[in-house]
Amino acid sequence: MARIVCIPRSLPATRLAAAARRAVRINPANAEQSRPVERTPIGRRGGPRRLSVVIGRRWPASGVRLSVQFLDNPPADLRARILRHMNAWDKTSNVVFTETRGTGKVRIARLNSPPDMAGYWSWVGTEILEIAEAEPTMNLEGFTMSVSDAEFRRVIRHEAGHTLGFDHEHMRGALVKKIDRDKAFAFFDRTQGWTRKEVEAQVLTPLSERSIMGTAEADPLSIMCYQIPGAITKNGKPIVGGKDINPTDFSFAASVYPKRVAATRRRR
Ligand SMILES: [Zn+2]
Repeated sequence: MARIVCIPRSLPATRLAAAARRAVRINPANAEQSRPVERTPIGRRGGPRRLSVVIGRRWPASGVRLSVQFLDNPPADLRARILRHMNAWDKTSNVVFTETRGTGKVRIARLNSPPDMAGYWSWVGTEILEIAEAEPTMNLEGFTMSVSDAEFRRVIRHEAGHTLGFDHEHMRGALVKKIDRDKAFAFFDRTQGWTRKEVEAQVLTPLSERSIMGTAEADPLSIMCYQIPGAITKNGKPIVGGKDINPTDFSFAASVYPKRVAATRRRR
């Protein structure tokens, strides 16, 4: 399997307001993390722009319980392996993904077409509730039992991080410099409807200036580091970022969805 990268997904500007209202109902703190975005309708380059606000999309701080449905009936060992890697986040945070044979909140497909559904992606946090029930909320193109454990760690844990409401963490300046700016503008315009400003803010602004994880120190090896396809780098090679959930990611997840183990112990 070629080295694979995660393609972000963004709701169209017309649906952001409803998604924001739902996110605030689920976790009022989502209202506090906001950033303006300016987008054109996807695929309509240079069309009319719309200014919207993207807020946080986190689940309640009391914990995350999400059912997971596999849409294309993969074998039991593969389903168990995917779930195991998604649940790696529970090491420090109050997070449980459980398989269901009914309709899941998380719906996993392995589509390789059409182009806008193929690849590796997940909707972010509470946005999965905006997606029609017949549609996947996560895609893991081509994942089978023969994929290496290293790729399971890097890709499944990253996509599960999105489902938990974590955005892409920015890259180090040295990595940002490897990106061909014009190709990046064209790529994210075509795939996301992002304006140049949005691409600047999301992809071309290095970590030192902005850290989504909210940590005091920038973390270049976060599992949620931006992943960049080779098509938009100067040397044609993809940028894949962190290889696994690292200590900073684990403490960040613990701060968002604390386990409250200490409180339980005290009561005994
Ligand atoms: Zn991603």
